[in-house]
Amino acid sequence: MEYVGWDKVTTGTIIESFSEPVENVAYVRPEERPYSPMNSHEASVASWRFIKPVYNRDICIDCQFCWVYCPDTSIISRDKKMIGVDYEHCKGCGICVEVCPTNPKSLLMFDENKPNEEALSEWPEKKKKSKDK
Ligand code: SF4
Ligand code: SF4
Repeated sequence: MEYVGWDKVTTGTIIESFSEPVENVAYVRPEERPYSPMNSHEASVASWRFIKPVYNRDICIDCQFCWVYCPDTSIISRDKKMIGVDYEHCKGCGICVEVCPTNPKSLLMFDENKPNEEALSEWPEKKKKSKDK
């Protein structure tokens, strides 16, 4: 197999995700998958992000919406329990925050440079429902 740079890839080139066949990949944990050297899993995109999602375990109900909707498979979940965010691959799109149903949300976007502990200390209170229409 020949490895070339992205600017040398020609029409019809096949980029394999894995270096060997994987059956039922959804059941194989990300860290156990035989990624091909061409797979973007091997590359960090953390430097692209200027805002990041911070996860608050105290509020999360493990609904898995964030895991389902994340376009970069950057929500880490094990046995249907939300664990956190893969900051090496998260691009800061905010979709996980949009779909999180809790009140307040269990994921919120913060400045990339703000330490997570500080973000957690600033978490908003539960919003009361207004009776006004
Ligand atoms: S911000 Fe976007 S890429 Fe990052 S974990 Fe949320 S949905 Fe995934
Ligand atoms: S969407 Fe929100 S409540 Fe649901 S698992 Fe993700 S962080 Fe937890």
